[in-house]
Amino acid sequence: MKRTALITGASSGIGKACAFVLAKEGYRLILCARRTERLQELEETIKNEHPGTDVYTFTLDVRDAAAVQDAISALPEAWKNIDVLINNAGLSQGLDPIQAGKLSDWDTMIDTNVKGLLYVSRAVIPLLEKSSNAHIINIGSIAGKEVYPNGNVYCASKHAVDALNKAMRIDLLEKGIRVSAINPGMVETEFSEVRFHGDTERAKAVYKGVDALTGQDIAEVIAFVLSRRAHININDLLIMPTAQA
Ligand code: NDP
Repeated sequence: MKRTALITGASSGIGKACAFVLAKEGYRLILCARRTERLQELEETIKNEHPGTDVYTFTLDVRDAAAVQDAISALPEAWKNIDVLINNAGLSQGLDPIQAGKLSDWDTMIDTNVKGLLYVSRAVIPLLEKSSNAHIINIGSIAGKEVYPNGNVYCASKHAVDALNKAMRIDLLEKGIRVSAINPGMVETEFSEVRFHGDTERAKAVYKGVDALTGQDIAEVIAFVLSRRAHININDLLIMPTAQA
């Protein structure tokens, strides 16, 4: 029986890489994000590269609690058996000292990285409970383990993910649902461009001279974590580029 994985933030970066790696592993995929066209292109490419893969996409802004619940409730019956949830949607916006941070950036990060993760988990867990091999992967960050200059609110949001990962694991023990945090260091994705409000030059400069991780690197580790025997829960992994302090 094929496992079904729901990936948030599948339109780019780590989420998109997870879609390809899990398609190769034979998963059925439920992919969501805000950019509908990106998802449609992704579905087409996955089906070309991995013929026979079942893919279901829907547009979702994880910050909208009602939309999250409605979208999960509206999943076709054939897609209501979910085994894996990858809470990946997230972003950093702005890199300013605390006294100069934009309130709208703070709201966006907390609403997406913390509240969005909670809304999606709350809606999907009842479906995971029906699986005999359920697993939640929470994408945290090195920013959830340490703080760095001007990282203030992003770091706080990822420290919250770290806490929620531990809390979910405890709360879901009895249900047999595994919960794992994957905490990357620098990964070359659209993350930097979003952080710098679309300033591509500044975004590119971040990765210059650094052998950053790729989305694929992270996705392969996630596939490994998911493929352990059911009595093994890998709680927490920190994955850094070799050259990043
Ligand atoms: P990308 O910017 O490439 O991807 C982020 C994804 O999140 C996109 O698919 C985006 O889709 C989605 N997303 C953002 N906001 C929302 C929203 N409100 N609702 C639904 N989807 C949303 O960055 P990464 O792949 O690097 O980021 C993925 C995760 O990895 C994030 O949680 C990030 O914090 C974490 N991370 C990244 C690191 C890095 O160095 N890149 C390091 C450590 C952690 P769309 O815009 O279409 O909605």
